[in-house]
Amino acid sequence: MKLKRLLMALLFSLGATLLTLRFALPMTAQADYPSDSGEEIFLPVLNALTPAALSPGLYIDKKAPPLVNAGEPITYTLTVSNVNISPLTNLVITDALPDGAFYRAPTTGTVILPGGGTACLTGTLNILAWQINTLETNASISVTFAVTANRTITNSQYGAAADGGFRAAGSAPVVTKIRHRIYLPLVMKPPPKINALEATQAIQSFDNRVRLIGGRPTTIRAYIDKASAIHARLYGFHNGAPLSNSPISAENGPLNLNSASTQDDLNSTLNFHLPDGWRDDLDFYVELTSPDGSQVYSRYPSDKKMSLNFSPVSPLEVVIVPIAYHHNGQIYRPADDYAALTDWTYRMYPLGQPLIVYSHAEYHFDGDLNTYGGWSDLLYNITGFRNQENPNSAVHYYGLIPTSSDYHLALGGLGWLPGENYAKKYLAAIGYDRSDNNYGSKTMAHEMSHNLGRMHVDCGNPSDPDPNYPYFGGVIGEYGYDIVEHILYPPAETYDFMSYCYPRWISDYTYEALYARRQLIAASSRAEETGESVKILQLSGRIEIEGTQGSLRPVQQSMGLPVAGEGEGLYRLELLDAQGNPRYSYKFDPQPIASEAGLAERGFSFNLLYQAGDSSARLFFGQNLLDEVDVTVR
Ligand SMILES: [Zn+2]
Repeated sequence: MKLKRLLMALLFSLGATLLTLRFALPMTAQADYPSDSGEEIFLPVLNALTPAALSPGLYIDKKAPPLVNAGEPITYTLTVSNVNISPLTNLVITDALPDGAFYRAPTTGTVILPGGGTACLTGTLNILAWQINTLETNASISVTFAVTANRTITNSQYGAAADGGFRAAGSAPVVTKIRHRIYLPLVMKPPPKINALEATQAIQSFDNRVRLIGGRPTTIRAYIDKASAIHARLYGFHNGAPLSNSPISAENGPLNLNSASTQDDLNSTLNFHLPDGWRDDLDFYVELTSPDGSQVYSRYPSDKKMSLNFSPVSPLEVVIVPIAYHHNGQIYRPADDYAALTDWTYRMYPLGQPLIVYSHAEYHFDGDLNTYGGWSDLLYNITGFRNQENPNSAVHYYGLIPTSSDYHLALGGLGWLPGENYAKKYLAAIGYDRSDNNYGSKTMAHEMSHNLGRMHVDCGNPSDPDPNYPYFGGVIGEYGYDIVEHILYPPAETYDFMSYCYPRWISDYTYEALYARRQLIAASSRAEETGESVKILQLSGRIEIEGTQGSLRPVQQSMGLPVAGEGEGLYRLELLDAQGNPRYSYKFDPQPIASEAGLAERGFSFNLLYQAGDSSARLFFGQNLLDEVDVTVR
């Protein structure tokens, strides 16, 4: 109240030479900026005084930094000096804030200032005033306050007055320039967002059509717009509970992107490698963050979680039969690095774990592997092992052939191409062990894929290409991704590994088909009974001309599991008893061996229950006898 009374007195004493400003204090008191009444008061703007009205002996000076950053405080210091021979009483210092300066905007009210002053603030005019009771002779007093501004401000309306008519006005405008920081586009633009997510394990479409396999290493790619210094983290949940190690960071962040993420550039997406134990059904969301993760820009999906469903698959088991190849009086043996051999099958197939490999006793072979017939014979022999040892399982058998510069091999690989009805009867193939360019490993993947019902894909002129293959020229059609080397395979320049072209990877078509066939085999394996090992006759043979010419191979007797029931098909195997009477008949359809190098055949291989006295076996097409062999055990 004392300040107001003084200001009123000051105003009236200055008379007509004074430019007056008039405003009302608010009627409503605020808790933190108390105002005691709604009285109207008037404040002088002292620099508008004419020079004649000024009194010597009272000086005011104002200082401010010439340059500050936008948003940083500008600190003003007002200094008043008394050079009179007597003290000054009831000294009032005032400062009208210039346009563009904000003291405590948009607050309206009376503010107690540092140093005992009061600020009267309105939305359009801010005047600060300080009252000092006494200023001694030759003394100075300083008051300070700070404002912020976003543009250059010029403060010229400041002054002081005291009892006895002493007055001073600011003699020089105080200019402060504002330096605007150079903002990164990141800050100026809306926060960066994820546009899409892709989860890949070998091959994937942009809309995630290809199924995910339980347990298989999984990479999630987050597609974002052009952004600088952008990182990301992924929060994983299973059945609502956070997974251990959650959240995980993008393995290639932070990124600086000059343009939006694209599918063809692995380093244009923020990529997450899901940890072990996260490859079961997964709920997750992703946050885009600053490089150190302290700032979160956006989240995807914005308010819920994404779900990934993983299809469980059984492991692929393979028995590898090393072929001890007799050639020109020497024995050659294949390389035994089975991890390298099976590597490409694991990389490309829909498998949740590396192959389970069993080493078979080596098999001595002295046929001629420089001929198709030699390869075909060896394949029947390996198939015989499988039928004898694991006839009702999903286990593959693979004969591994040594490579040497001492001889030529007619083929790289050969395998059965069974139809669905024989899906698990012909899981047998053979192939060479070449390690250069991983030919041996890629050949194994190719031949076992034949065993799983995959025909050739039309590139490089293979025999019998699959008429249903969806992509022209045998390309893989979608982006492939190698979970071991973490590289991409472009859709139009990579060929399905069931073709003869390079570079090779797996198409989504082959991937889904392999999954479906393995599911069929797994279901059929579960349905079968294992039974006891009994005496069997291993009957196998070739169909040279469909319906009219076929031959039985030499019959082996051993212990094993026989086929059950009477079978189904146009061909028939018949066992004759000691009297030469038919005692058992098994119907079937021969299955193709996948044609490599243009050579093809159809054949069969079955275990039939042996009974003492069995004398011979016959091969029929309908009622036509095609061949007969002696099965007498001597
Ligand atoms: Zn093939």
